[in-house]
Amino acid sequence: MKIGVVGTGIAGITASISLAKRGFDVTVIGPGINSSNSYLAQAGVAFPILEGDSIEAHFVDTVRAGKYLNDRETVWFVLSKASEAHDFLISLGLKFRGEELEGGHSYPRVFTIRNETGKHVTRLLYMRARELGVNFMRGTVDELAAKGGKVYGVFVDDEFLRFDAVVLASGGYSGLFKFTAGSPSNTGLLIGDALMKGAPARDLEFVQFHPTGYVGKNGVFLISEAVRGAGAKLINEDGERFVNELSTRDVVSRAIYEQMMLGKRVFLDATGIEDFKVRFPQIYAFLMRENLNPYRDPIPVQPIAHYTMGGISVDRWYRTGLRNLYAVGEAACNGFHGANRLASNSLLECLVSGLEVARTVTRDRPKCRGVKEPRHHGYEPGDVEAIKEILWRRAGIMRSARGLKKGLRELEEVKADPRLKLLARGVLECALAREESRGAHYREDFPFTRKEFERPSFFSGVCRL
Ligand SMILES: Cc1cc2nc3c(=O)[nH]c(=O)nc-3n(C[C@H](O)[C@H](O)[C@H](O)COP(=O)(O)OP(=O)(O)OC[C@H]3O[C@@H](n4cnc5c(N)ncnc54)[C@H](O)[C@@H]3O)c2cc1C
Repeated sequence: MKIGVVGTGIAGITASISLAKRGFDVTVIGPGINSSNSYLAQAGVAFPILEGDSIEAHFVDTVRAGKYLNDRETVWFVLSKASEAHDFLISLGLKFRGEELEGGHSYPRVFTIRNETGKHVTRLLYMRARELGVNFMRGTVDELAAKGGKVYGVFVDDEFLRFDAVVLASGGYSGLFKFTAGSPSNTGLLIGDALMKGAPARDLEFVQFHPTGYVGKNGVFLISEAVRGAGAKLINEDGERFVNELSTRDVVSRAIYEQMMLGKRVFLDATGIEDFKVRFPQIYAFLMRENLNPYRDPIPVQPIAHYTMGGISVDRWYRTGLRNLYAVGEAACNGFHGANRLASNSLLECLVSGLEVARTVTRDRPKCRGVKEPRHHGYEPGDVEAIKEILWRRAGIMRSARGLKKGLRELEEVKADPRLKLLARGVLECALAREESRGAHYREDFPFTRKEFERPSFFSGVCRL
């Protein structure tokens, strides 16, 4: 049985290993292992497995961060699989260097490798997958091959590749916002494609903004929370502190944004961290390439789109609304993160969903036989930059009914791939429908949480909330 996996991040490669071990013929399609958000992941993976810690404690932290919008059964399910996910990595030969405490966690349970965890995990998974005979195909899937609510394969460079099942592991849609430190290829194109073909999306309005992005001549880079944890201070251009640096991401992002709206530049002053180079080698190397010496220079920072809690709606076993299509990792949403993701929970979800989807596929035994090649639409990308600008300005850190409605009108005028427009419309419409502030979603006109909105949103061309 032939399975196609789209995406070379941690979710996709984990799924490929797990499927290959079960005897499936697996092909992973993607642009290469180092162009994923997984590869960029710095801090680590949250596992509630140490003595003194518990699944209950991690559960409470996750649901608190998610502002009670999480699907509790899913949270319990994922966390109870953490020990299996940890052992899976160890069995491949991974050696974590330590366990750290991150914001929102009540226990030092974030397993890390020198603040460049994603790179080490991705490389190891890739090597193991190759050893198991997984085929890696360099390329970009431009469309799912679907007909009558069923997926038969994918199109790569206009060519139809037939698969019995497709596992979408193509990441989230933070790349559909103007500023992001993630991979620019993560625009959510295939989430929009799946939507267009009849698979609903869930919780699209929840986009996590990271407070301390650096936008420079070598691109956008993330200055991780751990730097603030190590004592770096946020100051404005007058040298004044304006926020508790250890507050949650949404609070710090809004505080920085407010300074920027006052016309003030914001800096992260890390000059007091004596062992910066040893503790943050990736960040140090990037800053030095930008001619910034963190021992001497305050680092200019601004919020950036970081992580999308929403995605293709999947059930607990990672099935989508289309037959033979499964989704894992950041591309999928079954309510694990709720309204805001707890730090380092996303790599955990990538591992658990990657391992679990192989069981689901084994049980479902999907088959694709004797169908004519489904239609390939050959959409042109068009003005994607205009969509990014609209989402950044109208569905960014602070939202309002006025801005969101304006964004929807502006979007109608944009000439771009209809699938990206559909996804962007989903973000704007669900953000408009959610007349409250909760987690990563902040409405200036409704700056409080409302009990009647304590439920997920679903989008399938219209928003249901
Ligand atoms: C800078 C940074 C630091 C982070 N740090 C952490 C951390 O410490 N801990 C944590 O838990 N999370 C962290 N995150 C979040 C985490 O890295 C991601 O949520 C996670 O890696 C997503 O994994 P994934 O496999 O679902 O998708 P990704 O890793 O994003 O991989 C998706 C892959 O699909 C490919 N793709 C996209 N579209 C197509 C297409 N049409 N055809 C073929 N391929 C396609 C992409 O190029 C990419 O290779 C961080 C994110 C960033 C950006």
